[in-house]
Amino acid sequence: EKKPETREFQAEVKQVLDIVVHSLYTDREVFIRELVSNASDALEKLRHLQLTEKNVFDDSLEPEINVTTDEEAGTITIQDFGIGMNEAELVENLGTIAHSGSKAFLKAIKEGGSKNENLIGQFGVGFYSAFMVADEVLVYTHSWKPDEKGYCWKSDGSGVYEIEEADGQRRGAKIVVKLKEDQKEFSKSDRVKSVLENYSAFVPFPLNLNGEKINTVGALWLKSASEVTEEEYKEFYKFQANAFDEPRFWLHFSADAPLEINSLLFAPQQNMEQFGIGRMEPGVSLYCRKVLIDRHPEGLLPEWMRFVRGVVDSADLPLNISRESMQDSSIVRKLSKVLTRRFLKMLGEKDKKDPDAFRDFYQNFSQYLKEGVVSDASNRESIAKLLRYESSRTEAGKITSLADYVTRMSADQKDIYYLFGSSRQSIASGPYLEAFESRGLEVLFVTDPIDEFVMSHLGEFDGKKLVSADRQDVELPDAPESEGEALSQEEGDELSKWVKEKLGERVNDVVISKRLTESPAVVLNSDASMTPQMRRMMKAMNQ
Ligand code: ADP
Ligand code: MG
Repeated sequence: EKKPETREFQAEVKQVLDIVVHSLYTDREVFIRELVSNASDALEKLRHLQLTEKNVFDDSLEPEINVTTDEEAGTITIQDFGIGMNEAELVENLGTIAHSGSKAFLKAIKEGGSKNENLIGQFGVGFYSAFMVADEVLVYTHSWKPDEKGYCWKSDGSGVYEIEEADGQRRGAKIVVKLKEDQKEFSKSDRVKSVLENYSAFVPFPLNLNGEKINTVGALWLKSASEVTEEEYKEFYKFQANAFDEPRFWLHFSADAPLEINSLLFAPQQNMEQFGIGRMEPGVSLYCRKVLIDRHPEGLLPEWMRFVRGVVDSADLPLNISRESMQDSSIVRKLSKVLTRRFLKMLGEKDKKDPDAFRDFYQNFSQYLKEGVVSDASNRESIAKLLRYESSRTEAGKITSLADYVTRMSADQKDIYYLFGSSRQSIASGPYLEAFESRGLEVLFVTDPIDEFVMSHLGEFDGKKLVSADRQDVELPDAPESEGEALSQEEGDELSKWVKEKLGERVNDVVISKRLTESPAVVLNSDASMTPQMRRMMKAMNQ
């Protein structure tokens, strides 16, 4: 028999625990949701494993989650018959911060700014949330691997935890939460029942509270859209994405041929990358006949769609598909194509039905669409339909689509014009615009650095070239006659010669042109392959 071993939490975990324990966050009941979601994950993993593993410890156990409350003892216990943990996994999973939720939380805390309490509510801190209500947390567990021992992990959430061998454990994990004096409400059956009913309706395994079944198990994505209420979609999103916001839009899409697909895709309220937590993991989970294959599959959808949450289930997938083989699978490629196209279509329809909601989405998520135009050649044109810009014809703050721009083009306008600048103001007050305004040509105002790349990758829209209005070779119709006296040919030649002498090597050429109507002179870009902004960016990147 080994003695109990005391270990220190990783420094980052200590930080998280310190915030969690001392926070005044009021929605403490979320710890139940976190523990149930972990139990559900552990059962999903087991279900997948059982497809290939013959030798599983306690193999006859039914997949279920049992919550029990004990008012007298002041405890709440969450038990699952999932994959469990061995000693090394206890150390890795509960003693370090290798997993997603708390990592994001900590990073956001370090970024500073927001109040810590709010951040707990925005991220959830996973397993550690139990310490919001606990004097002590005990984890009894046995791994699915038959040759492992059982263990008891325990901690009071200060700086250390203890691991001890424990005989007689069933497969899975049993989390015993010894409640703080002022949190004893969570040892009351009625209180816990209302929390479970709120948060855990979509747990895909039987969930019992003190022996009474709480949920109706059903995969929402397999139902037909007419059977599902708005409330159910919202709750499902929160459960599935472990999210604390509400979804903005969703797409419930099913098909039988050529592929069987049942999917539910969500656009979230919050853009998590705005918190500076770095790149998000893909958020659409891959299922085959309700069996979870991969929670965060890389390569299922294009990378720019990583903000999308949800579920894709296809009975046509091979169950043993691995992360590595995913991108090589022609079925996955087909799934990806269909879903991306449908999702983009849904966004376009949203804009038609509720332009305000779409605009708000666009303001928060346009970076992904723009990334898509640059990186996803096969969907470039469809994504471009969703791009929106201010223009010389919109009011400040109002945006227009490229398609709408095209409808405003006169019969003899061939190209779509845009101007890059740091703001609407700086573009509007610069010398480039007047040449276009005076000829009645609309110019898009492009202010996001990535837009330079968007424009050059896109190249054209609806058969019309996208042309930067500061290009030297823009062909413009004659300007309306301006007042005042023009220079004679001779005077003009003399003036341009003089200017060229003064500017020397800094310019290619100085010419007299009819482009301008008010300003005396303008610097134009003669390099067709690179704009001044790109050159500036390259310089900044030291190239
Ligand atoms: P997350 O669920 O985002 O990974 P958590 O803090 O909720 O983060 O959980 C940390 C890790 O601990 C999980 O990734 C999992 O490996 C492990 N874990 C937690 N609860 C259980 C459980 N009931 N059974 C097996 N493993 C668990
Ligand atoms: Mg979790």
